[in-house]
Amino acid sequence: MTLADAAVDGPTLTNWAGNLTYSARAVHRPRSVEELADLVARAPRLRALGSRHCFNAIADSDELVVLDALPASVEVDTAARQVRVVGPLRYGEVAAALHAQGWALATMASLPHITVAGSTATATHGSGDGVQNLSAAVAGLELVDGTGERRTLTRADADLAGAVVHLGAIGVVTALTLDVEPTYDVAQEVATGLPWDLVLADYDAVTATADSVSLFTDWSGDAVGQLWRKRRVRADGTEDPRRAPAGAVPSTVALHPVPGGDPQSPTEQLGVAGPWHERLPHFRMEFTPSAGEEIQSEYLLPRAHAAEAMQRLRDLSPRITPLLHVSEVRTVAADDLWLSTAYRQDSVALHFTWQRRQEEVEGVLPAVEEALVPLGARPHWGKVFTAEVAGSPAALAAAYPRFDDARALFARYDPQGRFHNAWLERHGLV
Ligand SMILES: Cc1cc2nc3c(=O)[nH]c(=O)nc-3n(C[C@H](O)[C@H](O)[C@H](O)COP(=O)(O)OP(=O)(O)OC[C@H]3O[C@@H](n4cnc5c(N)ncnc54)[C@H](O)[C@@H]3O)c2cc1C
Repeated sequence: MTLADAAVDGPTLTNWAGNLTYSARAVHRPRSVEELADLVARAPRLRALGSRHCFNAIADSDELVVLDALPASVEVDTAARQVRVVGPLRYGEVAAALHAQGWALATMASLPHITVAGSTATATHGSGDGVQNLSAAVAGLELVDGTGERRTLTRADADLAGAVVHLGAIGVVTALTLDVEPTYDVAQEVATGLPWDLVLADYDAVTATADSVSLFTDWSGDAVGQLWRKRRVRADGTEDPRRAPAGAVPSTVALHPVPGGDPQSPTEQLGVAGPWHERLPHFRMEFTPSAGEEIQSEYLLPRAHAAEAMQRLRDLSPRITPLLHVSEVRTVAADDLWLSTAYRQDSVALHFTWQRRQEEVEGVLPAVEEALVPLGARPHWGKVFTAEVAGSPAALAAAYPRFDDARALFARYDPQGRFHNAWLERHGLV
């Protein structure tokens, strides 16, 4: 469902997963940046909304603004190797336009349906030992701040590193500039039967078998459910010598990562090479991604603790597995963005696609977080976590060395607190 399909007036607008109804009493659709600036300057409390793919109340406010009436464009600067993305575009739309002009992004999330502005605001990521999250590609931001002023930030501004992962707290972003590179092909293979013993003994060896590796598991049993490997096709035509790890059996049919899911909806597998944007996301733009009826949680922690963290989750399997659709384990390379979940640490990302049983999921999350927080876990900003353990102001301040600087930055861009909401307050972010 697109935003245009959704009931946007009154208290019936829900997030994509349907586990949250926004409390907003009005949704605005400005037709120009000037109209947007007027709106911001007069609304006591409002926030921007992207494609509604967050699972918590991060985007909620008394009033919401969606940018789908603003003119949109994708403008490549070939000399700078950058693209300016204007308006509320989704990654799938930007990727197709880039590829058509011979350009590419370094990474994509598991789905192409999410907006560039909303995804980079929460440090959305894909997978890969040498691959940073989507926010790390942001070279510039254009926004309307909390006073209604228009601001442009580039890498020459000291604020940019604090402003990219902004959680919607510094303004309404109207355009972003992203780094791009020449287009490339990727081949994707899925295997089953990878023994847990091998993963726990040498996780680094498993993730080194491709440019982007994901493990799909329900944490039970002796073998990981599925191993997804995405490899860039070499431009010089030589063969990639990396093979699936011992014990992993390449699948000869397409597989959906969620048990019972439609095998048509994932991107092409079986090692067939194709354009980067049709392989890096797990799901195709024209299908519903993932399970649909679901809730997600995710925690990123230093990858040195990956094996210990995975073992702790296997120990919790009797409590976790009955509530899961599936879990995914990925890697993300370090960056320098203050509130990035991979800030200054190469990370492992431990993700949960839960069944939509909110109360029971919230019941098990404290145990998950008590296992992972001592290992340095940072919760994904767009997913469900507790305000008592991983999301307590003290835990977040301990996990993010620039936490106080980010709070100060938010206050400078939004002195009247127009973009404040209960979610930001609960986590000590404003
Ligand atoms: C099926 C599914 C799969 C997912 N897979 C992944 C994955 O692979 N990796 C991953 O890291 N995450 C994943 N996510 C989470 C998702 O990518 C993030 O939650 C992302 O932030 C959603 O973007 P959105 O456009 O829907 O933002 P929204 O949920 O609409 O908003 C997110 C935040 O951004 C702010 N915002 C949105 N637009 C603007 C704007 N123009 N200006 C200022 N602030 C703005 C909002 O106020 C809010 O704070 C997945 C989610 C789903 C539902």
